Amino acid sequence: MEKRRTVPVKLDVDSDDAVLLEDTIDEFLWAANSVTRHAFEGEYVTTSKTTLHDDTYADVRNETALHSNHVQAARNKAADACKSVVEKWKQGKKASMPHFTSPHVVYDHRTATFHDESVSLATTDGRIEADYVLPDDERDTPHAEYYFSDEYETTGAELHYSDGNWMLHIHCKKEVESETPEQASTENGTVLGVDLGVTNLAVASTGTFWTGDEFDHWRKEYEKRRGDLQQCGTRWAHENMEAVGRKEDGRFKQTLHRISNELVAEAREYRCSVIAFEDLTDIRDRTGASWGHTWAFNRLYEYVEYKAAEYGIDVEQVDPENTSRRCSECGFTHPDNRESEAFECLKCGYENHADYNAAKNIGLRYLRRNQTGDGGGASVGVRLNSGMLNANGAYDPPAEDSARAGVHAESPPL
Ligand SMILES: [Zn+2]
Repeated sequence: MEKRRTVPVKLDVDSDDAVLLEDTIDEFLWAANSVTRHAFEGEYVTTSKTTLHDDTYADVRNETALHSNHVQAARNKAADACKSVVEKWKQGKKASMPHFTSPHVVYDHRTATFHDESVSLATTDGRIEADYVLPDDERDTPHAEYYFSDEYETTGAELHYSDGNWMLHIHCKKEVESETPEQASTENGTVLGVDLGVTNLAVASTGTFWTGDEFDHWRKEYEKRRGDLQQCGTRWAHENMEAVGRKEDGRFKQTLHRISNELVAEAREYRCSVIAFEDLTDIRDRTGASWGHTWAFNRLYEYVEYKAAEYGIDVEQVDPENTSRRCSECGFTHPDNRESEAFECLKCGYENHADYNAAKNIGLRYLRRNQTGDGGGASVGVRLNSGMLNANGAYDPPAEDSARAGVHAESPPL
């Protein structure tokens, strides 16, 4: 179950930035009203967000300088308002076409970045930074209780302008125990599949890669130093070797902590309820990984497991058999599908990075195992960077254009 709170925070906005925010509000309201007018055009009022998106998205983007996520937020506003009009009609009540006039803009994590003392907001012309104007005594305020609390996560905000004040209504939520926590946490959830390897330490089904370069660099560096010391063979060298070992441990752990933090952040950003890894038991034999890498995989798994738990995200291991040889698109499994980093399916021709294909398979395996299992609370898909895979391996495109920059993109099969 989720507990949601809204924290109002006053913003300190200078006059140049105010002009940009006013412009953004104007365009946002224009977009919402324009989509609403379109929804009312036909014989029936259109309330489907997907249909409204298809019909209006390109036009609104052309007509405004809004961020794509503001265009989508305006469309969602319009769709929700149209839906409530139709609901009223069904109950025999009077209602007319909605018209948005109250100055506001809806922000999410792609249009706003929430810092401790300020916020960065997308406008029609780049981003602006605005400081929070917080009460002097922060104890027992909503800011301290929710916004600054580790238990709550920020999900988005609405910017309002009234009586000469810029107010940000920040939405926060936290997971609270419900009667069947497993069911609640995996319901409608998606799976983040993660492949572990030597060249790329971790690759997620969202297409984000964490290279092993940094890890490798330190490993080689310490091995060399250790070798040099070993050659000395003195007592002094022996003691030094132990110090090098401790330092090495610390370095590696630091890198692994960072990667595990980023993996958990990835799962949260994509609202995944499960992170699936391959079973680590025989990973050394399977991947030809060094002892150091096996150690790293196990630490990484441990770190992810306990960090994910804080957010109610489960971390699971699945049977690794053939995850690197199987085609994540058509299921055809053959050793020749893969040639080092390149995956090309001999049957359907699907081509992608081999580790990325494996990450998708790991997510799919978890999904299938849990759908044929005891039922109840099964996850619905494997999270890709854009859209997701359902248990049949079919690709569901996203409702909105959210393909990330700098990650490995998945394109829908033709
Ligand atoms: Zn295939």
